[in-house]
Amino acid sequence: MDMIAYPIGDSLYLNITNRCPNRCSFCIRQLGDGIEGYNLWLDKEPTTKEIIEAIGDPSGYREVVFCGYGEPLMRLQVVLDVARYLKKNYPNLPIRINTNGLANLIYGEDITPQFKGLIDTVSISLNAENAQKYHELCRSDYGEDAFFSVLEFARRCKNYVPKVVLTVVDVPGIDIEKCKRIAEELGVGFRVRHYEGKDGEEN
Ligand code: SF4
Repeated sequence: MDMIAYPIGDSLYLNITNRCPNRCSFCIRQLGDGIEGYNLWLDKEPTTKEIIEAIGDPSGYREVVFCGYGEPLMRLQVVLDVARYLKKNYPNLPIRINTNGLANLIYGEDITPQFKGLIDTVSISLNAENAQKYHELCRSDYGEDAFFSVLEFARRCKNYVPKVVLTVVDVPGIDIEKCKRIAEELGVGFRVRHYEGKDGEEN
């Protein structure tokens, strides 16, 4: 059976797609079957109803995180529908999206206004301090444009989402200090993730 909702610590993670326009060298999609003993390959993408059923009663969790083994915003409408359900029924439960920040390229428009009132935190993978390194590491379908779109996405998210965080994975060759400065200049948070997705954050 597909693993749609899985707890890590006191958070509930949602795995809704395995699709992604990137092929990051550090992604656990390239490295194995999952994290923390969970197999996160989906036989089929779950419907909104199936996701809500898999969530059950989430009131004991600290937050719900769209994350998984792929890019959740490949399924923007499903993310928004599930978030709307959660906000209606569990208004005090924070909702986070872990994303590669490429949604505006994927959809060809600014989708960030749709987060308003639904999403509490957006955690965006910056991954590198410049476009060339980003592309070497993430091998995006969008080439070096991807990096600039990530920066723009973070800037726009700030208008609609209370907490925006840029993240990098501490792989060799990445200038963490420069990445941190980018986050500071954008006025968003910054977090370093440890290699191999051991913290349960694939994006
Ligand atoms: S790390 Fe995230 S952005 Fe990179 S390939 Fe994996 S799912 Fe896609």
